[in-house]
Amino acid sequence: MAEKKETALPDWRPQTRAVRAGLARSEHGETAEALYLTSGFVYETAQEAAARFAGEAEGYVYSRYANPTVRMFEERLAALEEAEACMATASGMAAVFAALAAHLSAGDHLVAARQVFGSVNRIITGPLSRFGITHTFVDGRDLNAWRKAVRQQTRAFILESPANPTLDVMDIAAIAEIAHAHGALLIVDNVFATPVLQKPLALGADVVVYSATKHIDGQGRVLGGAVLGSRAFIDDHVQPFLRHTGAALSPFNAWVLLKGLETLPVRVRSMSESAGAIAAFLAERLGAENVRYPGLPDDPGHALARRQMAGFGSLIAFTLPEGRAQAFRFMNALKLIDISNNLGDAKSLITHPASTTHSALSEEERAAQGIGEGMVRLSVGLEDVEDLIADIAQALDAAGIT
Ligand SMILES: *Cc1c(COP(=O)(O)O)cnc(C)c1O
Repeated sequence: MAEKKETALPDWRPQTRAVRAGLARSEHGETAEALYLTSGFVYETAQEAAARFAGEAEGYVYSRYANPTVRMFEERLAALEEAEACMATASGMAAVFAALAAHLSAGDHLVAARQVFGSVNRIITGPLSRFGITHTFVDGRDLNAWRKAVRQQTRAFILESPANPTLDVMDIAAIAEIAHAHGALLIVDNVFATPVLQKPLALGADVVVYSATKHIDGQGRVLGGAVLGSRAFIDDHVQPFLRHTGAALSPFNAWVLLKGLETLPVRVRSMSESAGAIAAFLAERLGAENVRYPGLPDDPGHALARRQMAGFGSLIAFTLPEGRAQAFRFMNALKLIDISNNLGDAKSLITHPASTTHSALSEEERAAQGIGEGMVRLSVGLEDVEDLIADIAQALDAAGIT
């Protein structure tokens, strides 16, 4: 069995944590993290089994509860996020649902930014509503709207910043203060920023959730997710909820994600740098008002993003002025960039939110979120930025943008 090596790392910098934190080598001394592809574990004696089940002896019992490879991933991500505790999940949505469902009960009220990921909206209006948890959606950028939405029963706030797909930026510290004044938790979906560019816990949030499917894998291979927060929140709420509802991360996926974390800082910085150059190029071709990227000086979220982020991320939203037909012409003319609704991948990917990720919303709801018919969302990958700009330039030509 893997030796339980203590990984004290107070003075390791983020890049070192991404490569080294959580590594628990077995007696074989393998260089790379071992893949414990096992559902169960065996015990020397019946007494040992009884003691582990009673929580009186250290050790694994079943991979739905915990697994050594999954544990390495959890410890590495917690170290990168500077969180007390982390629990991995089978997908990002399992993480969001666990964070909400482990904390909220019937009769509680939730305030959510209107700009949350589509499936987050669906679980708030679907299962959580059926379980008696009420909600109010607000424009996440409007601090007064958060204040006004609070009720006596409000126990949680949830937001995503920068948001999908509009790249709206929300003031995490100020919103955390409003939540805490009413005894509510702030949950932040940090997928677009990644732990490299934004630390919601340090800004005052209580819980961070990830879809590890995105930049953490970063190579388009596996689904995964994680919930991070205080030791008490994870151990007393999230862990019992997840252990018994079963959204466990596969050890294989955890192993892939561990290797993803090693290169996460390098990839995210490179993608962000390319995204900055592409956003500047697009602002010149389309006009700054048609490009949303927090790194652009004219972007409404720019000043706030500078304060709370260490970089502006790999996603850009921009609008083709003539609407959906022109957006489709542009996308279909791309030769290098792929059409896909995924994001955070090494390969640059583009999607048309109104007809894909946000097609379940009505046109009015989309308009309220700033998602127009001509808007496309670009996830900038790791290709040479000059090749990406050349591809975009020829496709803009083909779509009739002069
Ligand atoms: C993809 C995504 C999710 C959901 O993650 P899955 O791994 O697909 O379940 C949640 N939030 C954001 C912002 C995402 O991009």
